[in-house]
Amino acid sequence: MEQNLPEIFDTIVIGGGAAGITAAIYTVRKNLKVLLLTKIIGGQAALSGDVENYPGFTMITGADLARKFREDLMNFENKGLWIKEGVEVTDLSGADPDFIAKTADGGQYHGRTVIIASGRIPKMLGIPGEKELFGKGVATCATCDAPFYKDKDVAIVGGGNSALDAAFSLQKVARTVVIINTTDTLRGDEILMKNVTSSPKVKVLNNHEALEILGDQAVGGVKIKNRQTGHQQVIPVSGVFVEIGWTPATSFDKLTNKNDKGEIEVDEYGATSVPGIYAAGDVNDVWGEQIVIAAGEGAKTALRVAEHLSKVPHPKTSNLHDG
Ligand SMILES: Cc1cc2nc3c(=O)[nH]c(=O)nc-3n(C[C@H](O)[C@H](O)[C@H](O)COP(=O)(O)OP(=O)(O)OC[C@H]3O[C@@H](n4cnc5c(N)ncnc54)[C@H](O)[C@@H]3O)c2cc1C
Repeated sequence: MEQNLPEIFDTIVIGGGAAGITAAIYTVRKNLKVLLLTKIIGGQAALSGDVENYPGFTMITGADLARKFREDLMNFENKGLWIKEGVEVTDLSGADPDFIAKTADGGQYHGRTVIIASGRIPKMLGIPGEKELFGKGVATCATCDAPFYKDKDVAIVGGGNSALDAAFSLQKVARTVVIINTTDTLRGDEILMKNVTSSPKVKVLNNHEALEILGDQAVGGVKIKNRQTGHQQVIPVSGVFVEIGWTPATSFDKLTNKNDKGEIEVDEYGATSVPGIYAAGDVNDVWGEQIVIAAGEGAKTALRVAEHLSKVPHPKTSNLHDG
């Protein structure tokens, strides 16, 4: 991998989740020289439990799907695709058609274009039990995991649209849903709040905070505190959904325009405000955060990158040298 790196890649893909993997496969199949820089291959898909909504598989675990993504990707390694896994991109600079991606391990790579597919990271509470029981009843994606809580009691921590969305999905299947909200009132779209609070299964505990998630092999309850009275209690639940929002993983990117949620703004082709930089998947402002959506965006963006490059003169020769 370190040998014979092109002086400049046709495209650098940042992030090896569903979006980045698909973008890498599509661009390399367009005969482009592609570098994939990622912390992990698989991204959030690898963290998912049972995935029941990816076409072609009635059900596949997130780990298996990520393994299959990896296998597909590896078919192209050294055939136009260079993969650097376990690296973190810390800085992106330059301009069309010569961008520079720097990594935490001191690497520096040039690309004529860049596809940012770095996804997003859930904001977490940082309370005891949360990390230990993640995937064992602690979850961050109600759309994905709600069906596993049929006729069970669940808690949602949060009070905004993410929490309300989760409550709306969960009240369709769960026996009871309790929303643990730190403020006086829920904060979200009127209609969503009405739909959620009118459900007889949903109970809202305003002015409460979660202190600890309890359980050994699986979640058994959540300890909460009334912020006004200080009274503490344990609510027995099988699932705790942490729905306090998501952060797009863009700390390395000071170049592109973001919306008020920090998502990279893109047009219908995945192009950002900076010519030559594209963004696909959960990191951008396209509505819907799902594996199949991210993969679709990766494909579309890659095709657009190939078209973009066909119209731009090559800035340097792509002679090979030892990297
Ligand atoms: C627990 C859970 C369950 C889910 N279940 C489902 C489900 O059942 N069905 C479904 O369709 N969707 C599900 N989702 C949502 C789905 O996984 C995501 O929408 C999708 O995987 C997003 O893909 P992505 O490629 O855009 O981003 P990600 O999967 O987030 O991938 C981003 C990649 O970028 C890398 N990266 C980030 N920053 C850097 C950096 N600075 N340098 C280098 N690399 C970086 C990360 O390591 C990661 O590999 C679930 C999500 C979670 C968290």
